[in-house]
Amino acid sequence: MEKQEQVRNSNLKCSFCGKSANQVNRLTAGPGNVYICDECTDLFREHFEKIVEGSASIEKIIHTCTICGTRAPASHRYCFNCGTHF
Ligand SMILES: [Zn+2]
Ligand SMILES: [Zn+2]
Repeated sequence: MEKQEQVRNSNLKCSFCGKSANQVNRLTAGPGNVYICDECTDLFREHFEKIVEGSASIEKIIHTCTICGTRAPASHRYCFNCGTHF
């Protein structure tokens, strides 16, 4: 059970939610040092695909939560933690 092809370097973080590799089940590497965790794959799939295509940059997609500073999609004013305050 030692063979795991997922990213286990805790220095690497999900570019979307900011969780480190050992906080998530799986971290997938994309182009340009962009990483996406399994939790964000569903939420950010279309954004991630645009980054992979090269039609969008991470900076345009990621928005910093105005409340806690956590990263969130640009289409969201708040992160997922603060999103309940909508
Ligand atoms: Zn994530
Ligand atoms: Zn927040």
